Amino acid sequence: MSTVLPNTLPVTNPATGENLGAVPVCPADGVPALYARSRTAFAAWRTTPVAERLKYLKRLRETMVAELDDIAGQVAEETGKVAMEAMTTDILPVLEAIRHIERHAEKSLGAQKTTTPLLFIGKTSYVVYKPRGVVLVIAPWNFPLQLPMVPMLNALIAGNTVVLKPSEVTPRVGVVIERLFKASGWPEGVVQVAHGGKDLGAALVDAGPDYIFFTGSARTGQIIQQAAARQLIPTTLELGGKDPMIVFNDAPLDRAVQAAIWGGLMNSGQVCMAVERIYVERSVYDRFVDKLCAEVRNLRQGTDASSDIGSMTFPHQVDIVRRHVSAALAEGAVLQTGRPPEEWRTAPESGLWLEPMVLTNVRQDMAVVQEETFGPVLPVIPFDTEEEAIALANDSEYGLSASVWTAAVGRGRRVASQLVSGNVLVNDVVITIVNHDLPFGGEKSSGLGRYHGPDGMRMFCRQTAVMVDKGKRLREVNWFPYAGKYGLFKTLLESYYSSNRNWPKFLSTYLKLLRHASKPSREEK
Ligand code: ADP
Repeated sequence: MSTVLPNTLPVTNPATGENLGAVPVCPADGVPALYARSRTAFAAWRTTPVAERLKYLKRLRETMVAELDDIAGQVAEETGKVAMEAMTTDILPVLEAIRHIERHAEKSLGAQKTTTPLLFIGKTSYVVYKPRGVVLVIAPWNFPLQLPMVPMLNALIAGNTVVLKPSEVTPRVGVVIERLFKASGWPEGVVQVAHGGKDLGAALVDAGPDYIFFTGSARTGQIIQQAAARQLIPTTLELGGKDPMIVFNDAPLDRAVQAAIWGGLMNSGQVCMAVERIYVERSVYDRFVDKLCAEVRNLRQGTDASSDIGSMTFPHQVDIVRRHVSAALAEGAVLQTGRPPEEWRTAPESGLWLEPMVLTNVRQDMAVVQEETFGPVLPVIPFDTEEEAIALANDSEYGLSASVWTAAVGRGRRVASQLVSGNVLVNDVVITIVNHDLPFGGEKSSGLGRYHGPDGMRMFCRQTAVMVDKGKRLREVNWFPYAGKYGLFKTLLESYYSSNRNWPKFLSTYLKLLRHASKPSREEK
């Protein structure tokens, strides 16, 4: 067990319980100075051209690529996940985000010309995107590199400065992030990392950033949204999930089983997009469960290069998994593989090792089906009809991601269209989050807003809509004086908006209005 020094966060290896040191916290009374530095840096960063900002991003990418082993090692050591997962699920998505930004930033952040309605003939319209200011990113512990860095990079390229509060569970990865920015030479104050717990998070929200990007639990998301609402601060909330997997009887069964074990057990199931509920059509249910159990038993748990599954990251999460599994077993669920809670080896002093579990005889109203478990648990439930499968999948407080498994891709698309979910995959799992061309986010308690996709950088911008007139005419047709114009406008609207548009009438009326608009006003007569 690590000792907590005053004003530090302990760093622990959850796979061994080993104390890895401590990270100094930012005291709550240091927050005003932190924001002041951020605002000073913003004054220069906002006017730095996008092309120039991209040079820093390129250097960051190169720094990361040069340090892959070191970053993967540090992420793995602090989270208990295997290095392969640190590489593919933490580092790879960040590098993919950088490539996406490098391809799209100049176009996304440049002024966008729009069309101007015919009624406003002679004017031009466009939208400009300007950075908001200081963006506060509050991050969780399960993907401590990916989940903070992707929003940070989008915010930074849009010209904002960023204050990151990493999770207090994984502070050392926060230090890695800080070091990566330093090593790639970003200007002073553009990125600041403030370490601390929820009190610091609350102080950072209360201090009034210009935008809050939060990733974490639904409960904390609500608290942050309320605090943000008091100051009218815009937010994006990326919250939990309870993702369903629907397996029809024509599904590629072996692939579905492989997807279930990866989608459900990767990162020990501590994934907001993890497969947390598997619904299988009754005629293939037994076969699916047999294959699933056999494949789960084949997985290797450990920390070396041949391991598939590491340890859990956070003791508190083990308690939640224990509560869900114990309640399910007490209510009649059957543990097909894995150990019952009384046999778990999960003491923080010796490592948080949880063997993957498959549960059958599970009811839809059990906590393990309704609440986010965030652990290596696969509950499997049979269904009889497509309608029933859709209803079961939608019967959830969450709506982050879902998958549909069938050889009939048409049916896959049809079912996908009826799921209340921010992401749906057909014959695949999880991977929409790595496709930065797609917007990412959740429905219901899974969150508010979307990031990635075409608006991934613009969400961190204030939009200003601009219309430009050459200023040659005395007045517009709809300005004062109104005398004599009501009837003309009525004719204009009838000729323009009716389904049989009457162009001659429209034009002659418009010309009459223009003549009106150029007459001198009464006083000048
Ligand atoms: P988890 O316990 O699953 O990590 P949380 O949602 O509690 O999920 O935490 C996610 C992040 O939010 C962490 O960085 C945590 O310190 C921060 N946090 C927790 N409570 C608050 C709060 N009231 N205000 C701001 N940040 C908070």
